Amino acid sequence: RFITLEGGEGTGKSTQARRLAARLRALGHDVVETREPGGSPGAEAVRHVLLSGAAEPLGPVAEALLFAAARADHVDTLIRPALAAGKIVICDRFIDSTRVYQGAVGQVESSLLDALEEMAAGDTRPDLTLILDVPPETGLARAAGRGMGDPDRFEKEGVAYHASVREAFLARAAGAPGRCVVVDATPDADVVAAAIAGIVASRLGL
Ligand code: C5P
Repeated sequence: RFITLEGGEGTGKSTQARRLAARLRALGHDVVETREPGGSPGAEAVRHVLLSGAAEPLGPVAEALLFAAARADHVDTLIRPALAAGKIVICDRFIDSTRVYQGAVGQVESSLLDALEEMAAGDTRPDLTLILDVPPETGLARAAGRGMGDPDRFEKEGVAYHASVREAFLARAAGAPGRCVVVDATPDADVVAAAIAGIVASRLGL
């Protein structure tokens, strides 16, 4: 089974990915936790180029190509083999982030993103996508409050940016109701983790 967590900055994806993995492991499942951009040595190297600001200014198409290159490596070397071995893969960001950041925000044509998605992921698609949702002010405040030194280049934006990212994720969810579930990520991490546990149990029987 392949589960992805999606949402804007400060929605708590990484925390919830960790919590979900721990819960599924406690139930006896073999779980691989990973993230995008990154997740494999080659893809982590591309992540560094994308997030360090070293390659700025990079246009949205060039950026989309790099994200796709990272994904191709990640899917080939980690995700597909793990799924083939019967493991559960939990990935923090995947194809929906591309549609939101490079598509809705970056205005890259959807036909190009379709082609890149096909090349990079092939038929490796999530069985379940949890879209973590918070109001833009909350996401901005949480991202700013992380206290991890300089925010990366994607986190320097304001409320309007967070609002448009949120809308784009909600639109993705509405367009794929069989795969996506929107989770209110405003409450405490414990409450959100319990909601996610319930969704994963009812959708995937895990
Ligand atoms: O999940 P995390 O916050 O570590 O992601 C790093 C950044 O990469 C995010 O702030 C997001 O804006 C950006 N990103 C992107 N396009 C993607 C995936 C992530 O612009 N496809």
